[in-house]
Amino acid sequence: MKFLFRMLCKRKETLRKDGNKTHSLCLTDFLTKKKRCISRKMNNSCSGWLSVVPSEENHFDLSPDEFRDALALRYGRHPINLPALCDADGEAFDLNHALNCPRGGLVYARHNEMRDLNCSLLEMVGLRQIIPEPIIFESAEEQLRVDWMVRGFEHPQKVSLFDCCIVNADSPSLERLSLEAIFTVRKNVKQGHSSEAAKARRASFTPILATCDAVFDKEAEHYFKRMAVHLSKKWNVATLKPLATYEQGCKFVFYVQLVFA
Ligand SMILES: [Zn+2]
Repeated sequence: MKFLFRMLCKRKETLRKDGNKTHSLCLTDFLTKKKRCISRKMNNSCSGWLSVVPSEENHFDLSPDEFRDALALRYGRHPINLPALCDADGEAFDLNHALNCPRGGLVYARHNEMRDLNCSLLEMVGLRQIIPEPIIFESAEEQLRVDWMVRGFEHPQKVSLFDCCIVNADSPSLERLSLEAIFTVRKNVKQGHSSEAAKARRASFTPILATCDAVFDKEAEHYFKRMAVHLSKKWNVATLKPLATYEQGCKFVFYVQLVFA
């Protein structure tokens, strides 16, 4: 039995190495920009939607157009039949413009979806004082808000504040930066804005950072794993399902990636 197990492990490892070798060979044929885009998706398991059952639940049943667009995005190609010009500012409309244009509404829509999804999940958990867009500092000159707050998420009675940022890692201005550098810059900006005000309210502050293709930074991953623990405890009470484990936390992050992507 042990011999068979060792053989299977060895075979799995060989297949993994062969797969990595094949991926590297295939990637050499792409231009640098596309190579970076495809590698990011491969290294961060961003294409889980290709392997899930296309059920109506959670909107995994993509229409033919949605499926074609998702495949185009996976390979760093432009989706077909995009309008020639942006209807908000008249600029040439390509994928980068769609993901970056501050006037077209898509940037705000994805940000608000992230905020609303998180508030709904926290409500499902049954935590208290879930407030979207709370004001955390106010003076005659300025008003400072974060994206959502909740009490009891990390520690009982403690208020946690969260602010999300979804970034297009393929923007021309970011294409020379590593993903870590992109996240670090945004994290420092968010903490510079809100950390002091959070401290004054005796609350914790966590930036939730992600790319448009659903790669989460470390703190965001930790946040969703914690959310999985809360949800699992709630479901355990309601349905007697087993309590959350680390593995369940990882699966939940994968699930959020799917919904988010
Ligand atoms: Zn525009």
